Amino acid sequence: MSNDFNTDVIVVGAGPAGISAAIEIAKNGRKVVLLERAQYPGSKNVYGGAVYHKALEFVFKDQVQELPYERIINEHTYSFLNEDSSFEMTYKNANSKNAYAIKRFNLEHWMIEQAKKQGVYYSPNTLVKKLIENNGSVIGVETEFEQYFAPVVILADGVNSLLAKKLGLRENFKSKNFILSAKEVIKLNKKIIEQRFNLKEDLTNGVNKQYFGSDFGKLKGIKNLFMMSYLYTFKDTISIGVGVNLEDLAKTKLNINEVLDAVKQHPDIAPLIEDGQLIEYSAHLIPEGGFNNLPKLYANGVMLVGDAAGFVNSVHFEGTNFALVSGKLAGETALIALDDNDFRESKLSVYKEKLEESFILKDLYAYRNVIELLHSRANSLSVYYPNKIKEFFEIVTGVSCTPKAKEFRGFLIQFIKDRKISELFKDIYAFSKCALDVLLGK
Ligand SMILES: Cc1cc2nc3c(=O)[nH]c(=O)nc-3n(C[C@H](O)[C@H](O)[C@H](O)COP(=O)(O)OP(=O)(O)OC[C@H]3O[C@@H](n4cnc5c(N)ncnc54)[C@H](O)[C@@H]3O)c2cc1C
Repeated sequence: MSNDFNTDVIVVGAGPAGISAAIEIAKNGRKVVLLERAQYPGSKNVYGGAVYHKALEFVFKDQVQELPYERIINEHTYSFLNEDSSFEMTYKNANSKNAYAIKRFNLEHWMIEQAKKQGVYYSPNTLVKKLIENNGSVIGVETEFEQYFAPVVILADGVNSLLAKKLGLRENFKSKNFILSAKEVIKLNKKIIEQRFNLKEDLTNGVNKQYFGSDFGKLKGIKNLFMMSYLYTFKDTISIGVGVNLEDLAKTKLNINEVLDAVKQHPDIAPLIEDGQLIEYSAHLIPEGGFNNLPKLYANGVMLVGDAAGFVNSVHFEGTNFALVSGKLAGETALIALDDNDFRESKLSVYKEKLEESFILKDLYAYRNVIELLHSRANSLSVYYPNKIKEFFEIVTGVSCTPKAKEFRGFLIQFIKDRKISELFKDIYAFSKCALDVLLGK
């Protein structure tokens, strides 16, 4: 370490990405300062509820066994909602340990404890106001009260990384590249949650429900609203939320709280949270620009990780895994740069190579068109097909004393009449293109 520097690496932001980067550096004997604006770990961080085993294991190895999670999430349901009905598919695997429900406060607190054990210098209550540059390289950061200098700075400051923007690594924020999600945490008696969701007392199972459809309640009649809602079970709380693209919110003039209220009042969902006590409300952005809108991921003396880099696959509700793994890969790159005493962009390009070898850029590439295609077919996904599913199952399950053949023929004829053939082809094109892109991904 040169005398001009107080530390080897500075990491800005103590979410999963920043903590993971800091751990990688510290456990390999280098000095790292982790700066976080919040007073307590996790207090500024928001998610729906699931953090993934493999990604945690990648960073924490066997220590994952000690993660203070609340439930193992091993049951997933996918529901299409309309006014008064729903169509649900469930997948469960009692032996799966793929995902854990854990509150962000507890997750970040636990991760910070692991980081401190490795020798990370953690500084909460520290807002980084700007980056310090010299000769076209980032060489440190300025906080409200002091300056820190290091040859490598890792920006893990989350979805609206103003530091990356000021540095010119990101373009101006475009609303279409972000989801706004509102989420409530609802407290219920543990036993009630177990009864309502058919869960075991020993916390070895838990549910994640994902909902599609928007043609209900106050949202009825809004044609092009693509939204995904979710519910996660914790020990004695439920988290429920909804995400809508910022551009769609502006176009429909809806407030995200109205959307969440409509979701909570849906007849399929209201009984699940009935008599619960609202104990937490949060709203947060999620990056949705994907591969086609990634920022510049590194420059002289600096790398972007996690949400700051736009690493989220919103189709699968995956973000913490991208954050944990990209943080570790940036940490590994910083170690190489320190060993070679070379912090130029050309050396930090190793980070991009590592991202390309990992699932991160492969997945983002495979899903590069999916979100845009889903948005372009918003009405089909949110209104048209959920309603057609209802009509279909009304025939399957209903007894109308009309010949079934006549009813099914009527359904089919109406389906073709209702749907302009050009719209049907657009749907088929969009959904097949999504499937093909993913199948042909790297
Ligand atoms: C509503 C919602 C639901 C989600 N659900 C899931 C889910 O179920 N599963 C999943 O895997 N992902 C989910 N995600 C995505 C996931 O939360 C993020 O991808 C993940 O938290 C990103 O981690 P990060 O470390 O990059 O950023 P963050 O967790 O956002 O951390 C950034 C940190 O930087 C700090 N910071 C920012 N600016 C500064 C500064 N100038 N100085 C100092 N500190 C600063 C912040 O205080 C914060 O602690 C969800 C996201 C949202 C919003």
